[in-house]
Amino acid sequence: MYPHKALFLDRDGVINIDYGYVSTQEQFHFSEGIFELVRLFEEAGYWIFVITNQSGIGRGYYTQEAFHQLSAWMCEVFQAHGITIQAVEYCPHHPDAHCHCRKPNTGMIEHLTARYPIDLTHSWLIGDKPSDIALANHAGIGGSIAIGSTPIPTSTLHFESITACYDYIQHNRGRL
Ligand SMILES: [Mg+2]
Ligand SMILES: [Zn+2]
Repeated sequence: MYPHKALFLDRDGVINIDYGYVSTQEQFHFSEGIFELVRLFEEAGYWIFVITNQSGIGRGYYTQEAFHQLSAWMCEVFQAHGITIQAVEYCPHHPDAHCHCRKPNTGMIEHLTARYPIDLTHSWLIGDKPSDIALANHAGIGGSIAIGSTPIPTSTLHFESITACYDYIQHNRGRL
């Protein structure tokens, strides 16, 4: 199968507002403009993946089952907006476990490239923390976008908000 470019999305702080350990639909508020932004990538031929650290599971704040239920609902909402999420990859571990999958480590990307033929060098990652951008750089993902008020110097692009990112990508589709 021909290698596919991919968009890797962090969840909390990118797809939804990060209130800290979000685990229910009631707490899950989609970021303004997220569907429009992801659709630009999907229309440009990208597979869409979510990669998320969920140490709330390892800390005992919520169960793996609750996380799966929330993820299934989140994917349904994307689907209702015409967007297919190929997979939601997550790290359930406590930081003290020093696992290989917690960002900025690269395990989640390796799990995905073992299952999907992904062309990492032509792929993008969108995140809101230095650990997201570090993962992109460690894993050899071609481009990274930092979202938030504080720039992350090692990212390819930086925007204050998802809507600002959408405006830029919309006018610079040639970069995708
Ligand atoms: Mg985040
Ligand atoms: Zn892990």
